[in-house]
Amino acid sequence: MSKRDYYEILSVNRDASEEEIKKAYRKLAMKYHPDRNPDNPKAEEHFKEAKEAYETLSDGQKRAAYDQYGHAAFEAGGMGGGNPFGGGGGAGGFDFGDIFGDIFGGGRGGRQQAHRGADLRYNLEISLEEAARGAEKQIRIPVMEECETCEGSGAKPGTTASTCQTCAGHGQVRMQQGFFSVQQTCPRCHGSGKQISSPCKDCHGSGRVKKQKTLEIKIPAGIDTGMRLRHSGHGEAGSHGAPHGDLYVEIHIRPHSVFERNGDDLHCEMPISFATAALGGEIEIPTLDGAARIKIPAETQSGKQFRLRGKGIKGMRTHAHGDLHCHVIVETPAKLTDRQKELLREFEEISQSDSARHNPRAKSWMGKVKDFFGN
Ligand SMILES: [Zn+2]
Ligand SMILES: [Zn+2]
Repeated sequence: MSKRDYYEILSVNRDASEEEIKKAYRKLAMKYHPDRNPDNPKAEEHFKEAKEAYETLSDGQKRAAYDQYGHAAFEAGGMGGGNPFGGGGGAGGFDFGDIFGDIFGGGRGGRQQAHRGADLRYNLEISLEEAARGAEKQIRIPVMEECETCEGSGAKPGTTASTCQTCAGHGQVRMQQGFFSVQQTCPRCHGSGKQISSPCKDCHGSGRVKKQKTLEIKIPAGIDTGMRLRHSGHGEAGSHGAPHGDLYVEIHIRPHSVFERNGDDLHCEMPISFATAALGGEIEIPTLDGAARIKIPAETQSGKQFRLRGKGIKGMRTHAHGDLHCHVIVETPAKLTDRQKELLREFEEISQSDSARHNPRAKSWMGKVKDFFGN
């Protein structure tokens, strides 16, 4: 069985932005959604296909894996084993609710996953060097974990929870509102269906306790600010045995003292003395892999850019190196000695005797200014 290419399914380019992918998916999902196409297996097939493509391409890590290995990335053993698309429940439902909550309202609320653990987001600051080369980081996150004392039951060891009398263990109660009967989470047991007469003293009956967890985060080389790494099942524990949520580590790159990043390219300022600018010379500049030398040709002007090919960042998805752009700033000398001033005055005098030749830009600008006021 050959699977179609995810980009082809969503009809987007391989370099499509997250926003474009989301938009393309939304369009297809609206068209093929089962609620709009009852008893239409073809539409359902299209819907599933689009959903699968979206779940992969909207996740930076999965998309990178897919770009590199294609569908093989998600076969058994690929991304740490298991089927990343799960069945109908669990993680699969998350993105779904996220994007459709506003379109289909509570229409599909029958299968509400009220007790799945919450997703967590962790903002991780890293240096530009770490982003460029990849890194391993340890983070500590506060999580609600299953209480060990009561094994999550919430009942004091040696006692057991009894069935909630308000909802008879269903976790839901029916309320009459006019002509309608509305299903609600039981206010007494909060949906657990159980009643705890002697609560566990470590978790006060909730079955969960707050803990600090240390996680090893592998940061792929080339990652950029705003990209998120998903760690399935590392969110908060679900209540009463329900699955954990996911942890999203969002990357923020600290400003760098020398480089500014733009995509996979780096930019830096390169101040040079006006003598070097006029006479030319060689100067040393920093790059992420050590110092490099740049030849400054004679008569270099402020604002000129030198591009060092391949000295940028190796893209996480493209696997191609960006460039380093050095922006020349001709520095006006400061705190001059009398001797320097004297030399400069002499220099200026000589320059002024043939300013069209030595300062062509100033000369032509003066001409334009004269024309402007002449009218
Ligand atoms: Zn407990
Ligand atoms: Zn109840």
